[in-house]
Amino acid sequence: EQSAETFRYESDITRLRSLVIHSLYSHKDVFLRELLSNANDALEKLRLVSLTDRSVMSAGEGNVTIEVRLDEESGGKTGLLVIRDTGIGMSKEELTKNLGTIARSGTSEFLKKAEEGQGVDGNLIGQFGLGFYSCFLVSPTVRVSSLPPATSSNPDPIQYTFVSSSTGDSFDVFPDPRGNTLGRGTEIVLKIGEEEKEWLSTQRLRGLIDKHSTFSTTFPIYIKERQQVPVSAQSLPTDDDDQLNDDLDTDAQSPAAATSTVVEEKWVRVNDKAPIWVRDPKDVSEEEYKDFYKALTKDESAESLGWSHFKGDTGSGVSYKAIMYIPAQLPKDFWQKMTSGINNVRLMVKRVFITDDLGEEFMPRWLSFLKVTVDADDLPLNVSRETLQNNRFLAQLQRILVRKALDLFTKLSIDSPEKFKEASKLYGNALRIGVLEDNKDKLKLAKLLRFESTRSGYTSLEEYVENRKEGQKQIYYIAGVGERAEDLARSPFVEKLKARGYEVLLLSLPSDEPMMAALDKFMGMTTQDVSKKGLKFGDEDEHEAEKKELEAQKVAFKPLIDWLKKDLAGQVSDVTVTNRLVTSPCTIIVDSYGWSANMQRIMAAQTD
Ligand code: ADP
Ligand code: MG
Repeated sequence: EQSAETFRYESDITRLRSLVIHSLYSHKDVFLRELLSNANDALEKLRLVSLTDRSVMSAGEGNVTIEVRLDEESGGKTGLLVIRDTGIGMSKEELTKNLGTIARSGTSEFLKKAEEGQGVDGNLIGQFGLGFYSCFLVSPTVRVSSLPPATSSNPDPIQYTFVSSSTGDSFDVFPDPRGNTLGRGTEIVLKIGEEEKEWLSTQRLRGLIDKHSTFSTTFPIYIKERQQVPVSAQSLPTDDDDQLNDDLDTDAQSPAAATSTVVEEKWVRVNDKAPIWVRDPKDVSEEEYKDFYKALTKDESAESLGWSHFKGDTGSGVSYKAIMYIPAQLPKDFWQKMTSGINNVRLMVKRVFITDDLGEEFMPRWLSFLKVTVDADDLPLNVSRETLQNNRFLAQLQRILVRKALDLFTKLSIDSPEKFKEASKLYGNALRIGVLEDNKDKLKLAKLLRFESTRSGYTSLEEYVENRKEGQKQIYYIAGVGERAEDLARSPFVEKLKARGYEVLLLSLPSDEPMMAALDKFMGMTTQDVSKKGLKFGDEDEHEAEKKELEAQKVAFKPLIDWLKKDLAGQVSDVTVTNRLVTSPCTIIVDSYGWSANMQRIMAAQTD
């Protein structure tokens, strides 16, 4: 290694590396997921390059695979864990830059979060592009050798090696003394010491790959397995399997018989099942859907409230298969930065990952939380985002996803009311914004909303309409952002309606009032803010006597009303005698088209 060059890590990297190691020590197994995800990325990049330059595949190796193997040392007490891919590889400069510096913008944000003690979980590591450093969780040193494919601009690439230890602030890069042994791609060698020997089990590794990577990795992953094979296997009777197994069992237990077996190594494909989204939903278990969700979110504890697995045709001849999830948790700042939703739709073409950045405009913002995987069959593999945007496919796909999301919420409301209640808490505001912004789906969406009311703690508009009193033509509501339902119920606007046996919706979300105004009509009834003009009782006929009394009062109080109108001129637009109130002597109401006091408070808060 005479020609080794030594580089200093960027100062942040040393900090980040130790942060990763210290915050993830109890989730060490993420290292394998991260390394396999990098191998997968490298193969995807190769596939993309090969679309315009076939030679990258044919030169050297044509296969695109990931291999995992264990080389035992000291009689199995320690060993080397080798992860190899035939992907895009890295040149000397790329090894230095990609593994020694961080070009990602979120890093300082990550450092701040982590140092403030906000849980740094495996999820963050993946999000912030720190995956590679997780190899130091299990290994004191890492050696990365890499060889990019030969191309016309780089016809004679050289294999370089990067070596670093988990401590220290520098790394070495040098031409690989073994020469170009890789053919193409990257090989990562981790030194597994005695204290980490749990990783020296093929079975353990296989289990981890099954758990984390079968869903997210579409390229074949092979693991080298060692099997005890009887020497005379061929001569044993093959028509009696039970007999054969019995023989093997006794062999394993009896040292005298050990001479009749040898250790045979062979590569075994781990992720041999078709990806979950292309399979028939009938053949996918609930467990598999849950695991897929964890793999998608790169978060072991992630859960969803429900999912939908469907296939179809966009109408322009593109058939697709898709899985959509409603997350059970969202990042704390999700709604502040709606942009965090832009990576939630992963587009694949014939199982090959194309993009998870279809642009902020792709999903309506009120559905930006959905996690979707779509695999299209009939798009060209080299579609770029630009061509996609001019493609009718995306517009049609968006329509389909919105419709499917509404169906999924509806199904949840029928099949699992408890989960739907949770969904209402998490996404109630989003669905209301949907009513405001999505005129086409407004009524379907309105059916999914749940409200507190004077009748029950949790009602839908359909139930409200069902429970209306005879003759009632308005859906009554009162809105007060952040107020408690029982306080809203005590408002003088509500008391008379309640006394007459009408139900009033008690709305406390910021989006409630504008949503109700935008909704305007539902199942033939108009929405009516009880604090505004225009309130009508449906039972006026029943109360003939009351009506007569109101007329009499109007005459009796005319002098007072006239005086008030004069005295308050310029401050109010009208003064009338009303039968709205029961115990309060008077109230101030807003014109039908004016802003309610609630809305005025919202607007005032927004201009601050
Ligand atoms: P991220 O994958 O989020 O970019 P990582 O820390 O996991 O962050 O990897 C850093 C970078 O190192 C990658 O972006 C990639 O350029 C490079 N890299 C890592 N592993 C490989 C690999 N097996 N083949 C090619 N490049 C790799
Ligand atoms: Mg990575």
